[in-house]
Amino acid sequence: MAKTQRDELVFVPLGGVGEIGMNMGAYGFGPEKSRKWIVVDCGVTFGGPDLPGIELIMANPEFLEERADDVLGLILTHSHEDHYGAVLDLWPGFEKPVFATRFTAAMLAAKRAGDGIVENVDLTLMVPGKPFQLGPFTIEAINVAHSIPESNALLITTPIGRILHTGDWKLDPTPVGNAPTDVDRLKKIGEDTSTPLALICDSTNALKDGESPSEAEVAGNLAAMIAEAPNRVAVTTFASNVGRVISIVRAAEKAGRQVVMSGRSLHRIMGIARELGMLEGLPPLLDQDAYRSIPRNKIVLICTGSQGEARAAIARIARGDHPVIALAAGDRMIFSSWAIPGNEREVIDIQNQLIDQGVEVITANDGLVHVTGHPRRGEMRQLYSWVKPAVLVPVHGEPVHLKAHAKLGRESGIETVCEARNGDMVRLFPETQLFKAEVRTGELYLDGLVLCTPDESGVKGRRRLSFGGHVVVSLCVNSGGQVVSGPDLVIDGLPETEDESLTELVQDTIAGVLKSMPPKRRSDTEVLNSALFKGIRNEVNSYWGRKPNVSVFVHRV
Ligand SMILES: [Zn+2]
Ligand SMILES: [Zn+2]
Repeated sequence: MAKTQRDELVFVPLGGVGEIGMNMGAYGFGPEKSRKWIVVDCGVTFGGPDLPGIELIMANPEFLEERADDVLGLILTHSHEDHYGAVLDLWPGFEKPVFATRFTAAMLAAKRAGDGIVENVDLTLMVPGKPFQLGPFTIEAINVAHSIPESNALLITTPIGRILHTGDWKLDPTPVGNAPTDVDRLKKIGEDTSTPLALICDSTNALKDGESPSEAEVAGNLAAMIAEAPNRVAVTTFASNVGRVISIVRAAEKAGRQVVMSGRSLHRIMGIARELGMLEGLPPLLDQDAYRSIPRNKIVLICTGSQGEARAAIARIARGDHPVIALAAGDRMIFSSWAIPGNEREVIDIQNQLIDQGVEVITANDGLVHVTGHPRRGEMRQLYSWVKPAVLVPVHGEPVHLKAHAKLGRESGIETVCEARNGDMVRLFPETQLFKAEVRTGELYLDGLVLCTPDESGVKGRRRLSFGGHVVVSLCVNSGGQVVSGPDLVIDGLPETEDESLTELVQDTIAGVLKSMPPKRRSDTEVLNSALFKGIRNEVNSYWGRKPNVSVFVHRV
């Protein structure tokens, strides 16, 4: 990027642009040499089976650390893990304020308390419609509908241009537990032509035509399914979807059923919702201890585990090892959720277990029992028409979503569309330009309690061990090359059948190698070490068809 002294407004995506997850973006304003930065969101991605032992993945904040003095603060759009899950891991070191609405702030505090995290951040409450100043930026939160309370778009104003960072949103005219998207405010943004506007927008559903159905429609369907059920009804959903839980509680009340809640995260989040007055007028949510005392046709159970998490309530119920709750043949189980890619197998396993027990399983395949929290193409077009962006940068998507979103933006007549990825720098204003791979990015893994880069993590070794097992040999030789102790042998993670003993094979190999070497060569520990290493690897490979991990320790006495 050419060094200039003029004021520029730039956008740097550090995570979430090229993937769904670990959202983190920075906006910079000022001449290149003395730019001030604000950060929007600081989320995580969950590690899959390809990363053994890695629970969380987050964007590497190196770029921000290098200019930490000029980083003014972090603004959180909402409290989904992919937007705020890394705050307590990455942000304390910056010692800069975090801005969030009440619900998000309470979620962060509850996460910190629940996980026993010592580090803390300095939280400032943000109120939609009440702009605040952060250096050269004026920031205003705008309420949008999503699948969690208090999701916000951010209008970020600078002297040379404005940004509408949508966060996660949809246009649901009848959401539950949250006000609808503030359409009037969005229209006003379009009417203001004082400075140009860049739209940084959610691409999750850019492949889907039309409009996403309303939360109220889901509520109606759930109510019917609960009312007509002959026996127990259990429902699992995302614990953070307070609106959905409210719909289920209302449906239960209407059907004359009591609600029992099971799962730590549900209790945590509904506790926050109650404290913030979001559950007013609803009947009490009973603890799981009440489960057995309520007649079968008078109960609705709400439980966690919609993603197939092995330790969550529904997985334990399906396995039959829940301490209090059991379902029986003829009960109805509704999955008011969808499986996040990567979790499908676990979710289907649970559904299979329940079906084999005679439980009636209802999923999104059977009716509208779940709805997305993200806009489809029709809603995106509506937003363009209201805010009239000069520039569009699609974010929050895999390349396939970003591409479709970019195409939609162009077809809709947006003058400049920037197809950015993590690590690019987009000069939004003046003279929009994309600078590819301008910024060093990457990922950080939370490996147990250790935060590290992929290279520093133990993943590579763990993966190798998981395929190759481990053979450990230890022996002592004297100066004459005689074996005076050992060989001791440990074999882990290799096949051991009745017909062919791998232990014997390795013992025979060691004996053969020793025998094949004259005593003088055997007394050289390095030579013996490498001969044993190669011999064992080759022999096991010709028997097993895979090379094991081999560690040989030859000691001289
Ligand atoms: Zn979200
Ligand atoms: Zn998201």
